[in-house]
Order: sequence, then structure tokens, then C-alpha cells
Amino acid sequence: MKVTRIAYSARLNPGKYAALHEQAQRLGRVRSLAWHTFGSVAAAWCSDRDLRDLWMRDGTGQIFGVPANAWKETLRDAFDDICASREAAKVPVKRAIAKRPANDRRALFALLKSNRWTDDRWLSRQMRRRWKRGKNRTHNQIIVRSDKVDTFTLAEGGDVWLKVPGLEPRRPVIIPLNTTVAPNGTLRLILRGNRVEVHYQIDASAMKSSQRSCGDREVGVDKGYTEALTDSDGKHHGEDLGRLLTTDSDRLKERNRRRAKLRSIANSAAEKGRHAKATRIKSNNLGTVKRDRQVAVHQARVRTEIFTAVHSVVDKAKVVVAEDLAKTFTGRKSLGKNTNRRLAAWTKGVTAEALRNVSERRGSALVLVNAAYTSQVCPACEGFARRNGDRLHCTPCGVVWQADHAAAVNVMSRRGDPDITLHTPYQRVKEILQERADRQRIRLPIQDSSRAINGGERIIQPRPDSNRSEFVKEAAA
Ligand SMILES: [Zn+2]
Repeated sequence: MKVTRIAYSARLNPGKYAALHEQAQRLGRVRSLAWHTFGSVAAAWCSDRDLRDLWMRDGTGQIFGVPANAWKETLRDAFDDICASREAAKVPVKRAIAKRPANDRRALFALLKSNRWTDDRWLSRQMRRRWKRGKNRTHNQIIVRSDKVDTFTLAEGGDVWLKVPGLEPRRPVIIPLNTTVAPNGTLRLILRGNRVEVHYQIDASAMKSSQRSCGDREVGVDKGYTEALTDSDGKHHGEDLGRLLTTDSDRLKERNRRRAKLRSIANSAAEKGRHAKATRIKSNNLGTVKRDRQVAVHQARVRTEIFTAVHSVVDKAKVVVAEDLAKTFTGRKSLGKNTNRRLAAWTKGVTAEALRNVSERRGSALVLVNAAYTSQVCPACEGFARRNGDRLHCTPCGVVWQADHAAAVNVMSRRGDPDITLHTPYQRVKEILQERADRQRIRLPIQDSSRAINGGERIIQPRPDSNRSEFVKEAAA
């Protein structure tokens, strides 16, 4: 498995940044042309080699004003993006094929897989509906092939300098990095906010954390907001997550309020014809460089918190049982109005990624289960309990659970549940749970009745008007 690492430029001088920026702009045109020419049905049969050879033959390659290797790598990258968008469009089409008569399916799947869907009119219509023409929006990236990369350090153990090709032959751009680890392989340079991000991939097995072994137990986890995860022992992991998210969402709210005010001042100045003032506010007070940088820092912190939490779960777990976070489910308690919902959705994605990633690297198994209503039922009796803040009250048992702990225990017992599988719809889950709770309620009194235990097979139904004590008496009689 590969993991992406990012190194950043340190005190890069403006001249070098401008040179890289110019190169990225020109390569953006390569991407745009790739999307324009090949992002459609007509070129679905092409491979990136075909396109490359075509552009070399007809001289297209020379119009970009960049070294041949640079546009070829960019073309390959853009082509990968085009393929990814096409494959994403195929997912709903495959679902539609699955509903077709059985003897049609095989041929349709084959046509779709070999990108010859235009041969079939029905399939062609499906793809046309799902695959919209794309457009390039990337004008700030440079792909550098591994053999064009050179790194060096000025002193033993010092920060790394990166040498990448510039626009002129034999005039490389040398970028000082903020790390002592030299990036290798194919690099993706992203120019953002006067800084260069160097994205590269490393083999996960080379990472130090991959050497850590996993635990030997089976542990259920529940994803939370104040803590990243709660396990089925009731222990919280990643307890700083809530604070991180809350302070950030408050800060964002305040800042967006202030930006809105400045924007309205700028707009009204522009209406009155004071364009100098409007431009000044827009360029000095409403920029995005610092804002984007702070967002990146915050996201890195949240990721670290979540990954650390997952590592600490895997420390004791051989099998991690978790909810399938790719699914959404409406039965869950609302997150409250001050919670930034998009932030919550994003952290959910990071948690899913961390669970998958860390489990794979450290050799524990990740089991995904259907988590419908796991935060609402009592783990002891499986009946629906009352949720109050982070407490879960079960009246029949007379027990108060910590809600996330209860959810984690429920998640764990969903593994091996004979009736509730990963794909059971949540409405059906609710019915099953209610049936079980009813059965439990009926059986409870019988368990303390000697006759029922001896008799075994007979279950006595209580009369609708009788209360429990009378029922017990009657059963014992
Ligand atoms: Zn209970």
C-alpha cells in the first residue's frame, strides 16, 4: 500500500516561485487540451500512449512551450483523471445493468468494460446521462518524473534541496525544503499561496508505525464527535477532537462574519464609483492565501488526532469492528445547529480512511457492520433506550450507559448477528430490534417461574390487562 507524503518549500524566493508558476500555467493548458480533446466518448478507446504519439506526430507537443517530458507527464496525469471520471460514471450504470434481464447482462458488462458502450443504444443512453463532459480546473501543478528529480543537502543531516527541470534546458529550479527526508519517485508539485507543496508516495511498509504489531482482542468502536473513537471497553481515543473541531468552527464563523462585512463595504464603495478603495479591500483584506494555509494546518491536526486514536485502538485489537462510515443513515441523533456539518462529514471520511489504512498496515482485520440504531438500544436487553445527552437510560434494566460506550458494544455484537447484515435496510433493522425486545419482555417473567423452566416449551402470554406481578403468580400457580 502507498501513502502520500507532503514536503513544503521553505523561504522560496519569489523569482523561483514565479518561474514555477509560469511552468504550471503552461502545463494547465496541456491539461485543458487533454480534457477538451479526449474527455469524451469519441476518444474512449484511446490509451495515453496513443494520445502522446499523436501529439508528437502532429506537432501539438511544441505549442505549449514546455520541455517534452513535462507535457508528456502532465498528459498522462490528465488522462488518469479522465479515466477516473469515466469509471466513476460507470458505477450507477453497472447498477442499472444489474436490473436488466439475466441473458443481456453479460454482454452489456463486457461492452462497458471495454469502453465500447456506443455499440449498444440502451447502454449508450445510460452512459450519456451519467458521464458529463468534464473540464480542466487544474492550473497549479507540475508532475516531475522520478528520473528528472535530484536532491542534495548542504550539510550532513541538514534540510533537503530539490532540483527540478525548469522551462529552459539545463536551467533547473532549485527548491529549499523544510524537511531532512528527501522525497523520491514521481513528484507532484502543487503551487499554493507562494509555497510549493511536494507530494510524493512512499511504501507504507517503510513507515515506522507499520512495524508496530496489533493487539490480540476483538474490539468494537463507535465514531464520535467529542472523541474520535470510543471502544467497547468504554475507553475514549482521540479526546482532543471535539475541542479542535469546535474552536475551528467558532473561528470560521467569526471570520466569515468579518469577511462578509468587509465585502459589503467593498461592494458599496464600488457602487459609489470608488473603485480604488474596493480593489484595495479586496486585495489586502479579502485574500485567501492565509486562510487556505490555516485550513491546511487545521486539517493536518485533525488527521493526526484521528490516526493516533485509531493506532491506540489497534494497539489492543486483532479485529476492529466498526460501522460502515461510507453509508449515511437517518435514524441518528442530529448533530446540533452549531456543528459545522461539512466538517463533521469530512472527519467521518478521515476516520474511515484511518481505520482502513492503519488496520491494513498493522495486520489487524477491519470488519464493517450495519450500525443502524446501535446508538439507541441497550446492549444488555436490546430494547430501545432513552437518550439524554451522552447518557442512555434503559428503563427495563434500570441501567444508565455512556451512550458511545453502549454504541461500541452494540457495534461489536452486530458482528455475527444472524438477522442484521451489512445491507439490511434500517427500517428492517428497527423491526427486528422491536421484535427481539418484545420477545425479551414476554420471556422475562417466565425465567423466574419454576414451571416454565421445567416445562420448557410452553410460553405463557400475559393477558393484556394484567401487570407483571399477577402474571408471575399465575405462571407459578
Ligand atoms: Zn436494557
